[in-house]
Formats: sequence, C-alpha cells, structure tokens
Amino acid sequence: MNPEENTNNTSPAPAQRREPNGANGAPNSNEGARKPQSRNGGGRPQGGGRGRAGNNGGNGRSGGGRSGSGAGQAGSGANGGRSVSRGQAIRAQKQSLMDAQRIVSQYADAGARAGNNGGGAPEKRRANQLDFDAEPQLRIIGLGGMDGGGSKNTILVEYKDDAVIMDCGNDLGVDLPGINYGIADMTYLDSIKHKLRAYVITHGHLDHIGGLPHIVPRYPAPIYGSKFTIGRVEEIFNNFGLPMPDGFELKTVTMNEDTHERLKVGPFFVELVRITHSIPGSTCIVLDTPVGRLINTGDFRFDPNPLDHERSDYERLKQLGDEGVLALLSESTTVERMGRTPSESTIEQSFVDLIEHAPGRIFVGLFSTNMNRVQMIVNAAVHNGRKVAMDGRSMVSTLEMAVRHGFMKIPKGTFVPIANVPNMKDQDVVVVCTGSQGEPSSALQRMSSGDHKYIKLKAQDTVVLSSTPIPESGNDSLIGMMVDGLTRKGVHVFEHRNHELDGVGPLHVSGHASQDEYIEMIQMTKPKFFIPIYGAYRVKQRHIDLAVGQGIPRLHCINAENGQVIAMTADKMELNGEVPHGTVLVDQTGAVVNSVVVKDRVVLAEEGLVAIVLTVDKRTGNLLTSPDIISRGFIYMREQEEIMNGLRNELRRAVQQRFKRVDLDRFKAELKDHVTHYLFEQTQRSPIVIPVVNVISGGGGKGEVKATTAVGGRTKTGEELAKEQEKRFQEMRARLLTQDARTD
Ligand SMILES: [Zn+2]
Repeated sequence: MNPEENTNNTSPAPAQRREPNGANGAPNSNEGARKPQSRNGGGRPQGGGRGRAGNNGGNGRSGGGRSGSGAGQAGSGANGGRSVSRGQAIRAQKQSLMDAQRIVSQYADAGARAGNNGGGAPEKRRANQLDFDAEPQLRIIGLGGMDGGGSKNTILVEYKDDAVIMDCGNDLGVDLPGINYGIADMTYLDSIKHKLRAYVITHGHLDHIGGLPHIVPRYPAPIYGSKFTIGRVEEIFNNFGLPMPDGFELKTVTMNEDTHERLKVGPFFVELVRITHSIPGSTCIVLDTPVGRLINTGDFRFDPNPLDHERSDYERLKQLGDEGVLALLSESTTVERMGRTPSESTIEQSFVDLIEHAPGRIFVGLFSTNMNRVQMIVNAAVHNGRKVAMDGRSMVSTLEMAVRHGFMKIPKGTFVPIANVPNMKDQDVVVVCTGSQGEPSSALQRMSSGDHKYIKLKAQDTVVLSSTPIPESGNDSLIGMMVDGLTRKGVHVFEHRNHELDGVGPLHVSGHASQDEYIEMIQMTKPKFFIPIYGAYRVKQRHIDLAVGQGIPRLHCINAENGQVIAMTADKMELNGEVPHGTVLVDQTGAVVNSVVVKDRVVLAEEGLVAIVLTVDKRTGNLLTSPDIISRGFIYMREQEEIMNGLRNELRRAVQQRFKRVDLDRFKAELKDHVTHYLFEQTQRSPIVIPVVNVISGGGGKGEVKATTAVGGRTKTGEELAKEQEKRFQEMRARLLTQDARTD
C-alpha cells in the first residue's frame, strides 16, 4: 500500500526492446559490499511497538508487582510459601512460549504453517469443483498482499506450463525483535520454477518491489516495468545488503506505458497502462492470457490534475473494458474512504504560502519516493529565491535516479549539499528530508533529537510534515515524540492533520483512491469477475460490495486470502485449493531469520533468561563449586539475594538427590523444570532456563580422584579441573557483564 505517494511520468521515447536486457545498464548485482538496506535509513524500535504490550495480559499470571523497577517486584515475601504447584509453573512457561508462538506465527513461513496445521501439503483443500482435465484453467494465487494493509504484494498467475508474478514486495510493518521486514514465502515456486517467465511490476514502492532482491536470484526471470519502476528496481538491487549469488544477472525489460506496447511473455501478452499514484511511473498491468484478459490496477487514485500533467490513461482503460475484461484485480487500500481523494495540486499553494512567509529555514519531511512532491517543493523554493538541500539516504538515492532518467526538472544551481546549510542565510534555504513518519535515525528524527551532524534546529526554523501516519503502522507515537522534540526547540511545526488549526492549507493528500474512484475503475473496465487485492480482508469485502453495487454478481467476486488458488475459466471462477504460503523474516543486513530464532527472542524480551551452571563430580555426585547463576532481563539479582540463595540451596539439593539416580539428559531436564518451578513460585515469572552441567570425571574409588586430562606431563585432579572450570567460567561471566552495564 504505502498511503504516501503520488504520480508522475515523462514520456520516454517509444521503446524498441523486446529482449530482456541484462546488459542494458542493469547493474550487475554481483558486486558485494553494499550498505545494509534499511527503511528510510534506520532501525526500528525493537520490542515496544504495537501489539506487544498487550501480550503479557494473556499469560494468566496472577502475580502483581510486575511493574517496572526491579526492586520489590519479585520479593519472595510477596509470593512466599509453596503456594504454586509445579503444574502451574510449567503451564506458565508453556503459556509464555505459546504467546511467543502466537506473535511470531502471524508471520510464519510456509514450513511453520504446514507444521501448525498438521498437513501443509500443497493443494490440501482441493475442492475439484471445476473439471480440471476438461478445460485448461488460469490459476491466480496471492502469495502476499491479500491480507493486512496490503503488504509484500505478490501475485502469481499460472496457466499450464507458464507463469508470471505480478509485483513482489516486502512488508515493513513486521514488529518482531531484530526483524526489518517480511517477504512472501515462495516455497510454492520450487515446484513450478520451470514455468516462471517474468516478474511484472506495477510501481516502485517497496511493498511492490522489496522482495525482488531476495526472490529473483532464487527464481530467476526478467523484471518488466515502466522506466521509473525499473529505475527503482535497479536502485534496490544496487543498495541491497547482501551479495548476489555467483552468475546471477539482473535482467530488466523497460516498457513504455504511453504507447500501449504489448510484449509477448510465454502464452501471455503484457501491457502497462499509466495510472496516478504517489510515485512516478505507476501503472496498471494488463495481462492477456489464453483464458482472457486480467487487469491488475496496482496502487492508484484518479488524480484529475497531477502536478506532472501525466493523468491516468482513462481512454485506454475504457477501451480495454469495451474489448472485454475477464477479471479485474483491484487494489483495496482505502476503500473505506468516501468520496474522491483530492488532487495533488490542491496542496501546491500551501507550500508556496508557507515558504513565502516562513521567518527562517524550512524543513519539509515527506516519503522518500514521492518525487512529484519533491518537484513541487523545489518549484516553490525556487520561486521564493531559496536553494534546496536534501537529506536522507533513500530519498537522495531515488532523486539521483529520477534526475538521471529525466523525471525531474531542477534548475541548475538549485541544490546545495546539506553540509553547507549551517553557513547559509536562514532565508535562503529549504531542506527536503526523510522522517515524516518519525522513523528512528531518519534525517528529521535526528534533527529533532539534536543528533544531526550538520543541522542544529533553532527557534525560528519551520518544520512541515507532508504526510499522515501510515494506517495501522503504529507510527503515530513515533511522530508524536518527534514533534515533541521539535516543539521543545521552539521550532514552528506544521502537520497536515492540524492544518486548519494552524490556519494553513492542506499539506498532504493520499496516493490512494477513495470510494468513487474505486467504483469508476470498475465502471471503466467492466470486468466479468472481480477480485479485490492489496488490502485487509474486511476492506476487500467492502470492495466486493462496491463491485456488486456496480452490477457484478456476487458469485463473480472472490475475497481470497494469501495462498488460496483462484481457478478461472472463461465462464467460471472459484477457489480451488491452497498452496504453501507465509512470511519469511529478514533482518537489518538482508539475511533471512528463522522463525524459531525470533520466537526465542520474543520470550527473552518478555521473560528474560536464567542460566544455571553446576560443576559436579561424576564419582561422588557432589557439587565441586557453588552453583553459578546468571540472569539477563529477569530480575536484578543483587537486590534479590534471598531468592538467589534459595535457588542455590534448591540446586544443591537437586544435585544431591537426583544426579546419581538418573542419566545426565534426564537430570538436566529435571533441573530445568525444578528451577522453572522455583522461580515462578518466587517471582511469578517464567524466564528461559538454561541448565549447564559440567561433569568432572572422578576416579576409581578409594577417595582418590582420577585424572581426566593430562597437561604438561602431569595429570590434574578433579579438584584442579573444577577450579579451572570455575576460573574459566568467572572470566566468561566477567566478559558478559562488561558487555552490558546493567548487572542483572
Ligand atoms: Zn504504492
């Protein structure tokens, strides 16, 4: 989705290429040493985000005293006595594991999903209502984009021995520790890899292209898109954090969305049709298949007066509709918004006015790919005799690409380096930057917190946020904190939502349609079948209501979920089975992270960790040293001496009673349960417990400890070994403690 955005397009010369042009300036992605990809240049806050806080509630803990400051929260007095059963403690731990599982499984990959539902075989719900053998079918499968706010948008179209993928995005809304984003799980492609002919992309937002650097090297095929879109694709491959596999070559096909050129891809024909959105080069995909014509709208709105004068190609859409459209796949991001989305041009005057009247420097925060709006601000700055500086890596990168491809018209001498801004007169400069969502370490955020290398904000500065929080992103509070920081510095802050309060014009318009425009799309294309895509289930359902209102029979509409197979002939459409699907999680470096790892991180974040280290004499079964206990994120041990001493006593008793009676694995398992129980009883918490038992081989009786290790010609006694072990362990512990100043 990305409710940012707007549109643009210059008219590139008619393209003559028909072949994938790997050599055509497409960067060879083999060169490594790229900067880690990060969203708007920053990490995200781990832990605290949306959805997390509520999870404790479900743990079924009765215990009070879980409030912040370590002191007193876990006092053994409060929970004293043996009031908690072992079963209760184990259940508490299971519960916290289940909570973690639940959090992580929102983003489970196909394998985990298969494990969860006990089946997972492809096509497990094959209904077989359509007669597969009698009539070849078109299969449409949303591997991503059929849920949430429309993210990791990835739609597969399969016909006999050929397939294409429409869009291949990522999901930046994943709120899990250490995770940067998710991409669609493409396991299903393993079985049909040989069929894949192309990736066709609607536009260059990350939720439509962000999966490509992960997925294309594994399942290679050329990428088709408009000139700007292909520019963005090359940009993200260039900036990708990890090297591409040996021999991989990025192949792209730039299509002209103005000439209605149709390219043959296997048995399909592909055409792109210009549409307005919030990034230049946005298009609908027309995919002519042997069964009939599909149109995927991509993200859109119908802006009657776009700043670059590149209106949606209404004529072509109508023409396609007149020729006949089998199915319309229409994006659904903001179907719940009434009326029409205002034109981008409605905010132009606001910026002219603001820049004209601002007393000092002006900083405008906006989405990094919204190049038409950047152009608008540049125009207003130039009009007022100001220079423009730009900050934010992602924005600068996209701007360079846009200028290189001729999408922007910047008078010579307009841009100045951000480093020069402190030496310029306040009235001479406008800074355009990232950070309108309050993203950590974005340009504007660093200015707000005083951490920016060049910019120190001062009282007569003006900051304009040309955006609204991305819906369901949890960004509201980030923006709030940033605006607080700005306000503290005495800066004049203008937010779109307060523009009436501030007596200025509107400062942002959405890149997505409102109801009347969604209806208009249906009216123009007149599809036989209607499939809402790129949106939450409930919103897609409303989209179906709109379609039904336009005379499409309800039976001709399907609200499919990720992985569900929509089977289609020229006469019929129905759900027919399901393929493996899910979310693959990616960290800041671009590496895939297993969901088991993430689950552990969630438990660690919620409950902390306690490691127990015991050194036991094998022969006697006695402890050779005092039990060592390390905790992280659990309780502050120095303030909980009583619990720790109690735990040591428990451990001593456990060793005495059980060590010689059961085998080592069993002993460790029992120890884990026992410690879990004890800690839960004392603190009402269930940290991850890691028992480490060092068994020092004792000797063959007569009280003499036999050597197990020979060093320097002399054998060591068990006691020496134990001492050594303890020393090593103390060193290890010291290292751990210096890593983290909080000695809990
Ligand atoms: Zn978009």
